[in-house]
Amino acid sequence: MIITKQKSREDILKMLEGKKKVFLIGCGDCATTCKTGGAEEMQQMADFLKANGKEITGAIVPDVTCVTAQAKVAFAKNKEALKNTEAAVVFACGSGIQCIKDNDRFGMAVYPGCDSLFASLIDKDGSFKEVCSACGECLLDLTEGICPVTRCAKGLLNGPCGGQNKGKCETDRNKDCAWVLIYQKLKEKGRLSDLKKYLPPKDRHKSPKPGALSLGPSKV
Ligand code: SF4
Ligand code: SF4
Repeated sequence: MIITKQKSREDILKMLEGKKKVFLIGCGDCATTCKTGGAEEMQQMADFLKANGKEITGAIVPDVTCVTAQAKVAFAKNKEALKNTEAAVVFACGSGIQCIKDNDRFGMAVYPGCDSLFASLIDKDGSFKEVCSACGECLLDLTEGICPVTRCAKGLLNGPCGGQNKGKCETDRNKDCAWVLIYQKLKEKGRLSDLKKYLPPKDRHKSPKPGALSLGPSKV
């Protein structure tokens, strides 16, 4: 899941300066879960923009906004409203925003309503946690399932920096030191000798930007 936060309302109004007719696009997947681009948030944003002199030409929440086929269906269903739109504000991650921009055939301005923060899991309390940076060569087998690339503030691969205090990271005392967690887990499993295995620097060629992968036509 991609975690997003809504831009401030001030910033959204600033982006929309000079544009009167506005169409809102959320996302029924990640942004709905994050409460940044679901039906409720679209209604609240529509009310806010109307109160600030904007005309809302439509507001939709496609199931998954970053899928081209769904963007095209949403555009086809809302053709008349979009012809009458000066700017669309997309409340989704950067992939969703760019998917809408790439598929726009109406010549409208497309603006980001959200900032994308990180890819995450959702823990048992419903909190979002970044645990993977998609580095292209996973080493979780060597670290008992705890990613040092992501969960160590310095991304250290071969043990701690020495700044941990009572198991907490020196950069943020509210966060666990990833290497203390790795040490504890390896100890529990009788695998402490794995700490002696040298992990070479990450090969950045394995996660080139921009990433791309083709598995044939999408079925979503
Ligand atoms: S090593 Fe960490 S960042 Fe790399 S793929 Fe595995 S979990 Fe993700
Ligand atoms: S204290 Fe631990 S988690 Fe924090 S930077 Fe050092 S090794 Fe990484």
